[in-house]
Amino acid sequence: MQASLFLFTAIFAAGLQAADNISVLGNKPRWDVLEHYQQTITHDEFAHLINDVYGTHGFAPDLIEIKDDTARILMNRDAQKFFTLRFTSGTEKLKPVSRLWRPARSLPPMERNKPLLGLKIALDPGHLGGKWAKMEERWFQVGDSRSVQEGDLTLRVARLLATRLRDLGANVSFVRNDDEPTTAKRPDDFRELARKVLIRNGVPQPRADVLDSTDPEKEKTIRWQSEILFYRYSEIRRRAALVNFNLHPDFVLCLHFNAEGWGDPNSPLLTDTNHFHLLVNGSYLAEELQFDDQRFEMIRRLLSRAYEEELPLADTIAAAMARETGLPPYAYPTTDSTTKVGTSGYVYARNLLATRLYRCPVVYCEPYVMNSKDVFARIQAGDYEGTRNINGVERKSVFREYVDSVADGLIEYYSKARGRGD
Ligand SMILES: [Zn+2]
Repeated sequence: MQASLFLFTAIFAAGLQAADNISVLGNKPRWDVLEHYQQTITHDEFAHLINDVYGTHGFAPDLIEIKDDTARILMNRDAQKFFTLRFTSGTEKLKPVSRLWRPARSLPPMERNKPLLGLKIALDPGHLGGKWAKMEERWFQVGDSRSVQEGDLTLRVARLLATRLRDLGANVSFVRNDDEPTTAKRPDDFRELARKVLIRNGVPQPRADVLDSTDPEKEKTIRWQSEILFYRYSEIRRRAALVNFNLHPDFVLCLHFNAEGWGDPNSPLLTDTNHFHLLVNGSYLAEELQFDDQRFEMIRRLLSRAYEEELPLADTIAAAMARETGLPPYAYPTTDSTTKVGTSGYVYARNLLATRLYRCPVVYCEPYVMNSKDVFARIQAGDYEGTRNINGVERKSVFREYVDSVADGLIEYYSKARGRGD
């Protein structure tokens, strides 16, 4: 389940610093890094990626200006500083692209029935779970049944999936492998920042505390803002540092379960609706591109060609998931923050922290509505071998179905896409 981004984009859109326009807890962009990508992309490919993938909601004209031979990218509006990216004409041999991950085509051919041999995969089980699940608002409980905590479900999937992928030859690492945060910060570390964020966004005298989990004004409290700064912004940025500086995977799988609005977590709504979708990075909002760090991270990601790898990977996993689960694609209620991409009908581009910050292809999985009647019953049934009758249908455990469909997608993609090792 993702954040209801709704207030966040609005809340953080104003930014906290005037000179460098950096998003909350963001890093100062290192524009000089983009020098490595000079003459590695043609005008047409750059324009296609901006128009059809990354900048689909439009943006202020001075942010990125595409000319015949160059693109002019705003570095800092106050200082009127720009980065000039030079295109290649496409007639000479392309210079290699600077990146630490390896596309499938650069891997040696498949050996010994191990389609994932040598591949470095990082698994990122979404959220924290455990004692943090209520704070994360990734917790609900029906009567006295077992509580449903997304962060615990995703970790269970990750552990089962790791075993499968290792059997297929992959070198698997975990971005999180317990129910403790990777960040050393805690909510109290962000109280002052939370207060500033609220004041800056039109709440001059923010309340300290939330009344209860159904408090309609909770997002305007210092408690709620400091908690989300901890469990989302600080936590995901710390995970990004792990991925980018320690793990160096060839791609990351972000594992989530989706949900429909459940209302009161102690008396949640159960629904007949069930669906899935996958996300890759893209579809930046005009106001997100105003931030110097987000604009820089988008351009670096575009130039690394992560999209060339993550889109067909996501489409192949989606097709396997559709076969295995029989679920329809999720339809976002509006196209305000997402853009449908690829051919499967299940993949969207969206600018989430993890999909933007992890410097490698990222496929972000959102299968299953946890508070649908079927998935809820399957979660209550837990993990088991074989099949069981759930609401009148013989079903695998929801965890194994998730794992099998992702593994099948990876087998299919890498069996076809591996290269000759050059
Ligand atoms: Zn989630």
